[in-house]
Amino acid sequence: DSKDFDSEAKSVCPFCGVGCQVSVKVKDGKVKSVEGINGPSNEGRLCVKGRFGFDYIHHPHRLTKPLIRRDDAPEKGLNVDLDNIGLHFREASWDEALDFSARGMVDLRSFYGGESIAGFGSAKCTNEEAYLFQKLIRQGFKHNNVDHCTRLCHASSVAALQENVGSGAVTASFNEIENADVAIVIGANPTENHPVAATFFKQFAKRGGKLIVIDPRRQTGLKRHATHMLQFRPGTDVALLNAIMNVIVEEKLYDRQYIEGFTEGFFEFREHIRAFTPERMSDLCGISPEMIRDVAREFATAQRGMIFWGMGISQHIHGTDNSRCLISLALLCGHVGRPGTGLHPLRGQNNVQGASDAGLIPHVMPDYQSVTDGSVRDLFRHIWLGTEIQEKPGLTVVEIMDRVYRGSIRGMYVLGENPAMSDPDVEHARKALAHLDHLVVQDIFLTETAMFADVILPASALPEKTGTVTNTNRTVQMVQQVLPPPGEAREDWKIVVDLARRIGLDWDYDHPREVFDEMKMSMRSLHHITWTRLKNEGAVTYPCKGPEDPGQSVVFGDGFPRRAGRAQFTPARVTPPAEMPDDKFPMILTTGRQLEHWHTGSMTRRATVLDAVEPEANCSMHPSTLRQLGVAPGEHVRLTTRRGTLEIMARADRAVAPDMVFLPFAYVEAAANILTNPALDPWGKIPEFKYSAVRVEKV
Ligand code: SF4
Repeated sequence: DSKDFDSEAKSVCPFCGVGCQVSVKVKDGKVKSVEGINGPSNEGRLCVKGRFGFDYIHHPHRLTKPLIRRDDAPEKGLNVDLDNIGLHFREASWDEALDFSARGMVDLRSFYGGESIAGFGSAKCTNEEAYLFQKLIRQGFKHNNVDHCTRLCHASSVAALQENVGSGAVTASFNEIENADVAIVIGANPTENHPVAATFFKQFAKRGGKLIVIDPRRQTGLKRHATHMLQFRPGTDVALLNAIMNVIVEEKLYDRQYIEGFTEGFFEFREHIRAFTPERMSDLCGISPEMIRDVAREFATAQRGMIFWGMGISQHIHGTDNSRCLISLALLCGHVGRPGTGLHPLRGQNNVQGASDAGLIPHVMPDYQSVTDGSVRDLFRHIWLGTEIQEKPGLTVVEIMDRVYRGSIRGMYVLGENPAMSDPDVEHARKALAHLDHLVVQDIFLTETAMFADVILPASALPEKTGTVTNTNRTVQMVQQVLPPPGEAREDWKIVVDLARRIGLDWDYDHPREVFDEMKMSMRSLHHITWTRLKNEGAVTYPCKGPEDPGQSVVFGDGFPRRAGRAQFTPARVTPPAEMPDDKFPMILTTGRQLEHWHTGSMTRRATVLDAVEPEANCSMHPSTLRQLGVAPGEHVRLTTRRGTLEIMARADRAVAPDMVFLPFAYVEAAANILTNPALDPWGKIPEFKYSAVRVEKV
């Protein structure tokens, strides 16, 4: 009923990478409701977060004025009372806060050089904001030390995809499952983390599609629909996947014609894979040889197969090897480049694809153009009016935090990221943040990271801004401002521009459209995608073949963006986790998300409905494990790893293996990353969030 609201605008859900399109209705200056509309990925559907998670934007904790740390503030730490922040921070005008922010950065640049300052941008901002942020760091401080949460999420998947198929994005949208005969979902729990995508997966199974679910947790959501459920031992992904491929090779089930026409490296790969027989790998991965053979035959003999994966694959020190295996599996079977086939890492944050595309990554410029390539640096020197791009790839998230800890990085600009919650071994990250001489945080709430800031710049939530975002399907979508930011808070792009000018950059942008047009000068992916089209059509997928083309859901049907158009088989060896259970720490800790809360919880824990449904920090263990510990569900346990310890309420969950603990990372009062291992994958530089040795005790 049009009388029920004063205005409405189209936007995109701010939570996961599915990128559901929404209509946001406003009444009396407040969001009254959010409804799913017919976007290309969601077709009108929404999950509980998208539908009921919107009122965080009106939470009393929203930052509405710039803040500067008081001269007499207590020592930096997580000691700020959110309802009484005046002990630590004083309000400031925008001019004072921006001058203070810029002066601190310029002073560090003068005394210690540009490399004394690094930046973390955000996968929750728009593409234009991500682009401006990386440009500010690269142009203003003359290095590439700028990164964002893709490093903690799918960096290893992207490394493997770029290496072997020539592009880090998905080869097919998840909606292509509608055309598939078989689908593997591995190391992902879409029922909780990508719920609308999961509805398409379930529909696929209901119409007779073969759904093969492979995960150390026996997922209750997808399991009901799965034809095969492989609950394998955590950390043995390569062993299991190589065994599946061994069957395909030994039984000659592979697609010879496809391999000859579109790939390279098959013969070396075939020799490598012969050692990984199902019988040899079975004990290691905990799956019977018969089941391994069955899955191999199902996938290889299907006409059209897809592979979906999540952070269960990527967040390991062998995350890149895990993804290499999945790519090889698809190539072996010719399951790439046709409708109903493809490789799809389900992206995490709502705009992690777009922020990565926009260059918020330390070793590549926008569109993944390498900083080591002279012609790329020439292109950006031309577009950025003489700016010299440094040839040296920059540092990644965990590496930056380590340099901060050791003192060579003394200042940071953090936009919309929360490393004080999201980094592995987070006490180390918190100590590092406390060491900083100058920390500028731009956010909508006083996050755990903002508690360490010297200056805080109040920013905008997604419905309060206009711009573009890109979802897991490579679909670029427009978000329209529904209501202004509260109080004196500003749109993020405006803040970045104001700060850039104050550190001496000659920037002149008056609207995100101008930024988008500049992005198009260097990003071939945006060919045929214009601001006007996005405004009129709402969404266009890249690559796009012409002004009328809605974009290509499936890519690489006629070859890959690699040498001679061929994808590559890269053999992967079995690597054990960085630390194994032992007498002192006998169980395995794995971390993740749960349906109601998103990432570090800064938004969803301030959404009334979501917080009411899931208000308390919790971990899950198998009922038999709880019985052995003498713990009843709802009682508290102490979890201890080599990094730290915390106490938390325990739940019984049969989906969790008896030697494992599952721990969501959204709860500051029991922050999972106090426990996690910062060991990194050597290629993707992603930490091993999915495997730590842990001791569990009754409190
Ligand atoms: Fe939002 Fe993801 Fe849920 Fe869609 S599936 S409503 S994008 S959280």
